[in-house]
Amino acid sequence: MGLQKTESIVIGSWALGESDRIVAFYTRAHGKLRGVAKAARRPRSRFGGALELFTYGTLVFFEKETAELVRINSFDVLRHHQALREDLERLGCGAWMVECLSHLTPDRDPSPALFTLLVQGLRRLAQGGDPARIPLLYVLRLLDLLGHRPQVTRCLDCRRSPLAPVQFDSARGGVLCRRCGDAKRGVTLSGPAVTGLQRLQQLPWEGGERCRLAPAQRDELQAVVQEYVTYLVGQPSRSLRFLANIGDPAQVGATAEAP
Ligand SMILES: [Zn+2]
Repeated sequence: MGLQKTESIVIGSWALGESDRIVAFYTRAHGKLRGVAKAARRPRSRFGGALELFTYGTLVFFEKETAELVRINSFDVLRHHQALREDLERLGCGAWMVECLSHLTPDRDPSPALFTLLVQGLRRLAQGGDPARIPLLYVLRLLDLLGHRPQVTRCLDCRRSPLAPVQFDSARGGVLCRRCGDAKRGVTLSGPAVTGLQRLQQLPWEGGERCRLAPAQRDELQAVVQEYVTYLVGQPSRSLRFLANIGDPAQVGATAEAP
């Protein structure tokens, strides 16, 4: 209670009243929390442009025992991550990364490991890391830390090492071999895609960014991971819809604010 200070990343914001803003943060010391930034929408606000999506900084806030929202005193920027807001694909990828974290973690449940992972993922995406690879690496590690690691080494039913292709069953968080699975359900993964997924799960981050993955296998893994997270969250993802519409200018115009 009282005045608190912690490293934080802005993961969302909404207008409040005439000139205030509600800002959602993922913080190192407190996990996910939301606060009110008084007068943040005034032209000469003391927050300036600091409260933009993805900004990493030091948050000072005041907390009352009875209030759900904290009062944001100051937010000093450590990294703007401007590059993430200037490119539609990076914007959509970053939005998906914070959306996964936001939807899969409860409020006020601190996890320094999840915070460090978010800092690393957004930094690499802003530094020019592959927008097809960074979100995949990030979400696989997020799933590990949350206890939802996709089980792909053995068939969930017969426990045999499966002969590809396999079906990924999101409800059970793992794969079924050809004998046990129903080809009409779940997402199909080829043998090379299963091997690629295992490597991405095992390699340290840098190795995961470097390891070779054919575009077809990368697309299979993206489809599986996106479907699995959507199942865990329980609702369709706004940022994935935004990413899917990037190639269609009419749609992007309509949803540019969406993620
Ligand atoms: Zn089986």
